Amino acid sequence: MPDVDITIKGLKCLRCGHEWIPQKVGHRPQLCPKCRSYLWDTPRVRRRKSKEDIDTDTELTKRLRKHRTSIKKRL
Ligand SMILES: [Zn+2]
Repeated sequence: MPDVDITIKGLKCLRCGHEWIPQKVGHRPQLCPKCRSYLWDTPRVRRRKSKEDIDTDTELTKRLRKHRTSIKKRL
């Protein structure tokens, strides 16, 4: 009898990396059985400031500084 590889589709938690075989096929489990995270299939996203944001930020601070110095001059 020849040996054959049988692959089973499993699930992987994107939070803790735990891999498991779901009890029901085609059914998305609500939480990871290991870390109990409800966001096990949602990758962690870190909000980063884009270059444009930083540029506008510095531009705004420049304007504010100018404004403040002009107020000081008046007083
Ligand atoms: Zn997990």
